[in-house]
Amino acid sequence: MIHAHEALTRLREGNKRFKSGASEFVPNLSPSERNQLLEGQEPFAVVLGCSDSRVPVELIFDQGFGDLFVIRVAGNVVASSQIGSIEFAAEKFNVRLVIVLGHTQCGAIQATLDELKQPSENQSRNLRSIVGRIRPSVEGLLETDIAKDPEQLVRQAVRSNVRMSTASLRHGSEILEQLIDHEGLVVVGAEYSLHTGEVEFFDGVPLNDNQMKNLMRLDQQSGFLNILKTKFSKMSQAIRSWLNF
Ligand SMILES: [Zn+2]
Repeated sequence: MIHAHEALTRLREGNKRFKSGASEFVPNLSPSERNQLLEGQEPFAVVLGCSDSRVPVELIFDQGFGDLFVIRVAGNVVASSQIGSIEFAAEKFNVRLVIVLGHTQCGAIQATLDELKQPSENQSRNLRSIVGRIRPSVEGLLETDIAKDPEQLVRQAVRSNVRMSTASLRHGSEILEQLIDHEGLVVVGAEYSLHTGEVEFFDGVPLNDNQMKNLMRLDQQSGFLNILKTKFSKMSQAIRSWLNF
């Protein structure tokens, strides 16, 4: 299992390589490398990103096949299917880091701001469901002075929407809440800059040594429990086969 802080370091380093034009990832797989992937997957982070074609998640973090469990939806919004996907990755693959990745100049955010300023009549119900999820995080901004500066407004709205998504993940699922409280799962909000290529982690990043130590303690405890669980299940298998049933 890759601990949250180590996973975050890998993403930071990968983004640094991407930004400086020193990406290491080779997109071509040899048959033997493809075969290795048949054995299963062990992604080290979940990324909930936007569908925007300019933000290909694996590329901007310089990661390869099997490294990231990626969910992409316009505006990186959180609905039940996104939460379910994250629960799946956290439980099945022991992923301990979840990143919500927004980006500058997000069309979904802009569309929501436009809709709030001037509601359209014929927007599809499905599109409305995305705008409806972004809306609560941005409508308050329209009442402030930021609204006078369109560039600043979108910038703030992108971050506000990421913060709302991370909060929904931290508090919208019993499973994730348990993993956060007891097993060192961390949910971090980030923003990718189309201009610089840099990902800035700005929400929920474990900052100080104490937080790091606490995470490591939770990781170690859950690692110890997992060892116990495995040992116990092996023991009960042995007893069952010994008793022949
Ligand atoms: Zn977007």
